[in-house]
Amino acid sequence: MYAGSKAFFYALSRSALLKRLASRYGLATSESFASRFIAGEIIEAAIEASRRLQAQGFLITLDHLGEGVKTLEAAAAATREYVRLMDVIVASGIERNISLKLTQLGIDVDLATCIDNFRRILEPAARCDFFVRIDMENSPYTERTLEIFETLWEQEYRSIGVALQASLRRTEQDVRRMNELGARVRLVKGAYKEPASVAYQRKDDVNAAFLRLAQQLLDHGTYPAIATHDEQLIADVRAYAAERRIANDRFEFQLLYGIRRDLQAALAAGGYRVRVYVPFGREWFPYFMRRLGERTAKVAFVLKALFREG
Ligand SMILES: Cc1cc2nc3c(=O)[nH]c(=O)nc-3n(C[C@H](O)[C@H](O)[C@H](O)COP(=O)(O)OP(=O)(O)OC[C@H]3O[C@@H](n4cnc5c(N)ncnc54)[C@H](O)[C@@H]3O)c2cc1C
Repeated sequence: MYAGSKAFFYALSRSALLKRLASRYGLATSESFASRFIAGEIIEAAIEASRRLQAQGFLITLDHLGEGVKTLEAAAAATREYVRLMDVIVASGIERNISLKLTQLGIDVDLATCIDNFRRILEPAARCDFFVRIDMENSPYTERTLEIFETLWEQEYRSIGVALQASLRRTEQDVRRMNELGARVRLVKGAYKEPASVAYQRKDDVNAAFLRLAQQLLDHGTYPAIATHDEQLIADVRAYAAERRIANDRFEFQLLYGIRRDLQAALAAGGYRVRVYVPFGREWFPYFMRRLGERTAKVAFVLKALFREG
């Protein structure tokens, strides 16, 4: 069921009709079905949302949605857009923390160009004191993503971090690899449908791996981010940190915009650092479908809304 619903949503996410319908109606008003998960289509909306979150005591990271870019021109445009966004963020005074995907910067088109594009973002980022996190995409990208990360790390770009996925069997080694560098890791379960050859298929196995890896990061990592809405795992991580006397400012929890806001607030009230991942932009459909795949109960509701409005 776990892997099955991910596969179903992966298939749906490739439907051009659904994408057209969703893009027309999903964010039409603040009541529309995607508004719960996406801060808006334009940067100003994301800044507004971030201001509100910061006023409530949360940290934020902004993600300009986009992925799977297929041409050099589109990759260059996405890069320019990120540079422009950083200017807007600086002018707004909100926290300087962004997340991005390497398929947005052209990893599928040309590796060297992707690295150049990433550097074009990291230059102003370094000047303006941004932290830049690379989101992790599906397993064909894992090794290339880490290699690009290491290349830039060696070039002294140190205000960068990467996400690693507990569902992948290789991640234990990757955590060690990042810990040895001293790089900041965001630990997630993994949002993509992956084959059994590379990933655990059972939820219990993913959860057990998540806890093991979180402990490895708390013991040996550099300011790790524990990114989950799973209350049991969060409780286990809190207990482990308390037992080891790991101070609350040596790690942070991260949760997604609009998901388990009650838990976000409870963690912040409990004295933990909580960062909310704030996605925005016109290319929100694949992100939105991954979120739906995690929550099958909501599906009928959204599909009905789509076809009613369409
Ligand atoms: C800050 C952040 C950054 C991320 N970055 C990446 C990344 O770079 N690469 C990547 O592959 N994945 C990323 N993810 C997604 C992650 O891999 C999971 O797919 C996602 O977080 C759902 O898993 P979970 O840990 O919340 O546990 P789950 O077991 O899926 O969920 C636990 C509980 O959380 C709540 N919940 C979870 N999802 C939803 C939802 N969509 N709607 C409503 N309630 C929900 C439910 O109460 C559920 O019972 C990120 C997640 C977060 C929080």
